[in-house]
Amino acid sequence: MAKIANEYYKIHPWKIIEEEYDQKQNKISESIFSIGNEYMGVRGFIEEGVSAPSLLGSYFNGIYEWNPEETGLHYKGIVNRTHWMVNAVNWLYTRISIDHEQLDLAKIRYEDFTRELDLKTGELKRKFIWVLRDKKRIALSFGRLIDMKNVIYGHQRITIKPLNFSGKINVIIGLDFSIKHWGKFDMWQVDQMNLKQRILVGRTASKQMVASGYKLYGKFRGKSKIAYKDRLLTETLTLNVKENETTIIEKRIANIIDKNQAEDQKTILNQLHAKLLAVPSYQSSLQSNEMFFERVAHENDIEIIGDDKNQQGIRFCLFQLTQTYHGADETNNIGAKGLTGEAYSGHAFWDTETYCLPFYIFSNPNAAKNLLMFRYHTLPQARQRALDVDCQGACYPIATLNGYESCDLWQHASLQPQPSSAVAYAIWHYVKITNDVTFMLDYGLEMILEISRYLKSRGDWNSTHTHFGWYGVMGPDEFQMMVSHDTYTNFIGKEILKLAVATIRKLQKIDPEKVKAVREKINFSNDEIKEYQNIIKHIKLLYNDETKLFEQHAGYYDLPHIDIHKIPVTNFPLYANWSYDRIFRNDMIKQPAVLMLMFLFNQQFSLAQKKANYLFYEPRTIHESSLSPSIHSVIAAEIGKMKEAVNLFGFATRMDLDDYNRNTSEGLHMTSIAAAWVNIVYGFGGMRSDGEVLLFKPQIPKTWTYYSFKVRYHNAIIKVSVSKKETIFELDNNLDVPVVIYGKSVKLMKGKQSFHE
Ligand code: BGC
Repeated sequence: MAKIANEYYKIHPWKIIEEEYDQKQNKISESIFSIGNEYMGVRGFIEEGVSAPSLLGSYFNGIYEWNPEETGLHYKGIVNRTHWMVNAVNWLYTRISIDHEQLDLAKIRYEDFTRELDLKTGELKRKFIWVLRDKKRIALSFGRLIDMKNVIYGHQRITIKPLNFSGKINVIIGLDFSIKHWGKFDMWQVDQMNLKQRILVGRTASKQMVASGYKLYGKFRGKSKIAYKDRLLTETLTLNVKENETTIIEKRIANIIDKNQAEDQKTILNQLHAKLLAVPSYQSSLQSNEMFFERVAHENDIEIIGDDKNQQGIRFCLFQLTQTYHGADETNNIGAKGLTGEAYSGHAFWDTETYCLPFYIFSNPNAAKNLLMFRYHTLPQARQRALDVDCQGACYPIATLNGYESCDLWQHASLQPQPSSAVAYAIWHYVKITNDVTFMLDYGLEMILEISRYLKSRGDWNSTHTHFGWYGVMGPDEFQMMVSHDTYTNFIGKEILKLAVATIRKLQKIDPEKVKAVREKINFSNDEIKEYQNIIKHIKLLYNDETKLFEQHAGYYDLPHIDIHKIPVTNFPLYANWSYDRIFRNDMIKQPAVLMLMFLFNQQFSLAQKKANYLFYEPRTIHESSLSPSIHSVIAAEIGKMKEAVNLFGFATRMDLDDYNRNTSEGLHMTSIAAAWVNIVYGFGGMRSDGEVLLFKPQIPKTWTYYSFKVRYHNAIIKVSVSKKETIFELDNNLDVPVVIYGKSVKLMKGKQSFHE
């Protein structure tokens, strides 16, 4: 893999630091320095404006816009109207000038620049000395913060200290709804405002609302003048500043959204006004954030000694994941770019259940549950989608913000059953680990049955009615389209049908009334169960016991072979350099499919099978998806290829910090960030969670001297510390179920216990 690190930020265990402002890096830094709290997020843009390439982004979870036009295509089942997360108000709008000289970091002279994102508080700070043309020197610093607990609040603090003069300085602060989506499109209308209260209410064409307002505090002398023009509220502060005296401007912001379009604009305005009366100070939100992140680190921190880059990398991943989603609201989900950019339209994919969910199950089970609740709330849309594609049950979308399929590449939207199977798998995984039977009874069962129905109706019998399978699909390897008997699809399809039958049976014993009610609600008959049982016996799996290989799909072995190592580096990313259809004409693989199964259903495959399939498929895989290397690394570690596992892990934690894919500028790879956690915990930690008991088999990369990770399991937080000498399990509580460590079943007790391989 020809991925090269762009090492730019200073290494620090708890901070991301930029020591020199580089305009060429501006857009990348905007992504890296993003802050958010699940409810809203802002990119790390330079708020006073800069003439460098920029994607000025401010987003709210679940605030989206529909494409105003249908495509005009009316093929049944093909999506003809999409929606996307819309870039919203810039609540950090600022302009600064002195004696008609405008502050623009790309143009001015400055000294001592630093920008720092503190992973322990979520505070972003930037400071430098501006040297004016007439040699006046002025120290400026900017701080910003989003409250993790009182999620509607954000803060901006500007400090100004003239070093060798006294005089006047012009600072404009404001709220800007004229922000451009994708840097091009106007999305907002403002028809409600209260300038005196400094509030604007913005509305998109489809009536999604965001209200933004602020209160001004601080220590400054001067005049203030409010104005409004074209969706931009400005407050011009003409400040009298004195040599060596610090002026502080503190803007306390509140933003509220109405994603259900329930309220009118006047009501929203009044609600915001009330919220502003209770706006906390910068300091108090900072303290509250510190406590928030301390608690989070107590539950999920990963420590690495002997590899400072990955230490910083993994903490950055954990921080960004928490900022994007920590389960505060069950109508939120995790966009592939989180709240850090508009690429992928803010959509959530099967990535949520497949890559992100394990992290939440083992660190914040309530968040895991809420992610599943998102799918429950959007079950009606999934039912409709199943009908649209001439199936039954519930077909979950490949890309969505609101439950409706929003992928206009029909091959992906119509041919990929994995979003649906991923939801069923995730429910099973969540309940297995947390034992949340109530969730299963109240929501899980209904989803599993509806998904199984969709899968059954999407599959079919062959012409002689001897075996069952899925025809014309696109499995997780998106380079193989319209294939049949895709091993991933057939295998997981079989598992989900088995799960449907087993879940009914199991719950029947616990709460027969409830099971009856769910079955009656969706009219799930005994005949369906019988039909599933028959299908399960006849699902075709393309497996050869001699070679131990699963053929990726029918006909895969016959495809023309490409030596992927001969593809010139300049051809990557392929989607930009090869015509779309060219990538489908050979045996090249985008991301794990057979190996993905071996990760998800790990205990069902022998070591020999894992080895054979890894050796066959990895050399054919170009890892074009950022989700790919981590899963390969996990399997490589398991089959004894630790060196390869470490290589594949190489860029997992620093994918964005070192801009390996050269597209961090568009936003962070939020779901591959989650895969970095999977890589350490399942890969090096050797955790396996798909069997009856939880397994651990920790190994340590050669270059590391120590690492530790934590998992919440049953009633305890288990800290696993691994050094070359020993592995220590430390618990804050006795564990009420056994686990298997290095092949031995053990009952873990509160305190520390040491193990060796
Ligand atoms: C991958 C998909 C993934 C999507 C969003 C694509 O490149 O092939 O598996 O769901 O990106 O991350």
